Formats: sequence, C-alpha cells, structure tokens
Amino acid sequence: MPIATTGKVLVSGANGFLAVWVVRAFLENGYAVRGAVRSADKGVHLSKIFKDYGEKFEVVEVPDITKEGAFDEAVKGVDAIAHTASPYHFKADDPAELLEPAIKGTVGMLESARRCGTAVKRIVVTSSTAAVLHDEPTPQTFTEADWDDQAVENVQRDGRNASNVHKYRASKTLAERAAWDFVKTHGSSLKWDLTVLNPPLILGPILHEVSSPSLLNTSALQMYNTYTTPDFVAGGGCWVDVRDIALAHVLAVKKEAAGGERIIISREAFWWQDWLDATPEAAKSNPRYQKGKPGSQKDVIPPVSYDASKSVRILGIKYRDMEETARDVVSDYEERGW
Ligand code: NAP
Repeated sequence: MPIATTGKVLVSGANGFLAVWVVRAFLENGYAVRGAVRSADKGVHLSKIFKDYGEKFEVVEVPDITKEGAFDEAVKGVDAIAHTASPYHFKADDPAELLEPAIKGTVGMLESARRCGTAVKRIVVTSSTAAVLHDEPTPQTFTEADWDDQAVENVQRDGRNASNVHKYRASKTLAERAAWDFVKTHGSSLKWDLTVLNPPLILGPILHEVSSPSLLNTSALQMYNTYTTPDFVAGGGCWVDVRDIALAHVLAVKKEAAGGERIIISREAFWWQDWLDATPEAAKSNPRYQKGKPGSQKDVIPPVSYDASKSVRILGIKYRDMEETARDVVSDYEERGW
C-alpha cells in the first residue's frame, strides 16, 4: 500500500532528536505532516523551523501517550503514521518508567489507528537494534531474525536491580513484540500494514530545540562528550546518521515491499576512537576536540555488528559515511558556539 506524496503523515514525539529530521524528510518529499507533542510549548520551535511549509505542517497535543485513546483525534485524516515517541535514556530506576510509555504508547497508537484512522494505510514504528542484539561471549553479526529476549528476562527477574541498559533494551523489545502481536491478533480486519525500523545508535547534526549540550538526547550527548571530554573515549557500537534513518521512515511509507517487514537500518560498527580519528582536518588543531589515541582501535574487532542488507534491498538506502557525519556534527557545534 504505497502512500502518494500528497498524503498526510502523523509523526509522534515530533520534537525529539530523530523525529524532527523525520518530519523534515516527509515535508521535503512532498507530504503534509501532523507532529504530535506532549504540550503546546514543545511545538513552538517546530512551527518556527517548518514555517515555510505553511499549512503542510501542523502540531497536535497528545499530553499522555499511555492513556487509552490518546491518539484517537491525532490519527484522524492521516494516510500514514511514524511512531517515534518513546523514552530513550539509561536513568530509570523502576523499569516501568520506560516499559509503560514504550509499550502502551505503541499499542495505543495502533489501537487508535484501528478504530479512528480510517485513511491510514501504513504505520512505521521506530524500534531499535536494542530489540535485536543480545550479549554473547564472541563477536556477533545480528539480523532481523534476532530478538533481545535476554534483556526482557533480566528485567523480569531483577526488576529495579536490572542494568539500566537492559531496562531500555527490554522496553524496545516488548514494545516491538506488542506491535507485531497486535497485527497478528487483528489480522485482515486492519486497513493498514506495519513496518518496523531497527536503528542502532543515531548520530548527526541537531535540528530540534536544545539550549545547551548537557540537554542533548542520549546518543547526541554521547558523541558530544566523546569529542569534548578528556579521557571519555571508551567502547563503541554501531551507528547510523540521523538523516539516513529519517529518510528510511519516508521510504518505509513509500515502498510497497516494506509492508510487514522488520528492517535494520545501520551503517557500520565503530569505536569512539574512530570518530575522533574522523574529526575534520580543520578542527583537529582546535584543542577542545579530543584526540584520544589515534588509530589505536583500527584493528580491534567490534563485539556487535548488524546485517543491514535488507534496508538496501527493500528501501534502497545509501548510507552516509563517518567522515561526512563527523564533519556535519563538528560544524553544527561550531555554529552553536558549543
Ligand atoms: P529523544 O530526542 O529523547 O526524543 C524522544 C521523543 O519521545 C520526544 O519527543 C519525547 O517527548 C518522547 N517521549 C519520551 N518519553 C515519553 C513519554 N513517557 N511520553 C510521551 N512522549 C515521550 O530521543 P531520540 O533519540 O530522538 O529517539 C527517538 C526514538 O528513536 C525512540 O523511539 C528511541 O527508542 C529510538 N531510537 C533512538 C536511538 C538513538 O540513538 N537516538 C537509537 C535507536 C532507536 P518529550 O520531549 O516531551 O519528552
């Protein structure tokens, strides 16, 4: 069910790091967008940056995504939905702080679309590779066939004492499983189909409202700290540029073949040292950018990587490389005076 570019898309959590780029990608591709935020003040910056799109961009308030019927009004008249709203942090004491909004927000969106979204043809849920990977003693390449049930078991067993990373990973696994279960339960009575996107760490320049670096979202803050904090460099992961995962949301709506698919959207594995090595030449002489130990991680095999071939096959994604993302992130810091 491809959606014509004249359609309207509801984007939840529209003021978040990723979602603002998602909104922009839909607008740039000819769609109208309704951005859902928790309160009117969170829509002000959005209305400002998208003012050139006139009536093609509107904001709707959804104060509590865990409430039954929270999205009933928001889904009316939209052709597609990108559900990105979900807490992403490693500070929860009670796992329910993450699990409740992740699961109830996702199922609530699908339920509102089922009952009230008469024009909806496709729903794209932003999951994560957090719902894919699991801890293994040897390096692994994970695919869409993998599920992070390990984090769920740990959180069910240890509750508040589970690791903060596992609490987040469990929230994404359970929310995604709930979405697929919903589709299975309602089967052919649904007038729309589901696509789930699974990105790893999302990095890139910032478009959303952030008054100081300390208020950055979890992934962008990690990158800022890596570049600017002495001795911060440790570990790594896998990454994708925020503009590539944003465009993936548009392609997931556009491409017929994406319906019913779970798709990993990932560039390569990295060590944070690799990002310091990729600092643009012009910035390397600036003492505020850390150097770490140049080249020291080049031959170290990363513990986790992902097979993202499905994203290229179905969505046709062309991924940005580390040099381009590093250049744009550093020039973003400089423009902001950070
Ligand atoms: P973000 O900047 O923190 O944005 C999160 C968005 O979700 C915000 O609009 C936020 O609204 C909303 N939200 C969070 N908790 C909520 C709650 N309890 N009730 C209602 N809304 C809530 O995070 P992001 O990095 O853009 O992440 C966006 C999505 O991508 C999430 O689903 C996340 O799991 C997923 N993801 C992110 C990464 C990454 O590295 N950034 C990687 C993989 C997947 P408020 O501003 O009102 O809090």
